[in-house]
Amino acid sequence: MYCTHMRGSTAYMCAMLRMYEKNTMNNGGNKMANEQEIRQEMCEIGRRVYERGMVAANDGNFSVKLNNNEFLCTPTGVSKGFMTPEHICRIDAEGRLLEANGDFKPSSEMKMHLRVYKERPDVQAVVHAHPPYATTFAAAGIPLEKPVLSEAILTLGKVPVARYGTPSTREVPDAVAEYLPYYDAMLLANHGALTYGDSLMNAYHKMESVEFYARILYQTHMLGGARELSSEQVGDIYEIRRKSGMTGKHPALFFDKISGIK
Ligand SMILES: [Zn+2]
Repeated sequence: MYCTHMRGSTAYMCAMLRMYEKNTMNNGGNKMANEQEIRQEMCEIGRRVYERGMVAANDGNFSVKLNNNEFLCTPTGVSKGFMTPEHICRIDAEGRLLEANGDFKPSSEMKMHLRVYKERPDVQAVVHAHPPYATTFAAAGIPLEKPVLSEAILTLGKVPVARYGTPSTREVPDAVAEYLPYYDAMLLANHGALTYGDSLMNAYHKMESVEFYARILYQTHMLGGARELSSEQVGDIYEIRRKSGMTGKHPALFFDKISGIK
């Protein structure tokens, strides 16, 4: 077992990591699923995003990579809580419409999604939402980086804030690109949050994790501040992450390469 040498305090983290991997693997079947199943899963994720209050009205969008030049994406102007598979659109790598039913049109934020796929060939799905606590930090320009939750350190590391860009312009993908090589989640300044992973469920779970982390940071601040883990404790968790085989990018993988990231 990769963690038998770790100190006793990490036993819990190892058990948690095994649960995380099991959960992720159970839900990581996008590559094998057929297109209709993917469309249905996108509707299910839409319901979860909407019912958990991660979006208001018709906000939010997500996409799934079918192959290098075909992507399924959510439509604009439709509540993500009430989508059916027929609402889902198909676009190419340049954002051109390949297929849509009726008057449904792809989200205008697909430029941002396509930039993620371009820069990160390992990514199979992208989720964008406006969860209230994460968006509060995004509006305040505050990254999620205080080491107060072991789970957040393991799954996310830190969550940076990508600079503001006018919606639907190239400013947004250009701002996002800066962090794509190093992180699997980021806040979008004065806007919301962006997560991605090797399956739609994986990307969605990261959005849940980002919102939970932001909520705990906010609430502990209201209580006068959290007790932060030490650099050594964070280092132990990063060591678990490095040896875990978990997919995606994480600050632990770039410990010595990026100044300011520990
Ligand atoms: Zn948005």
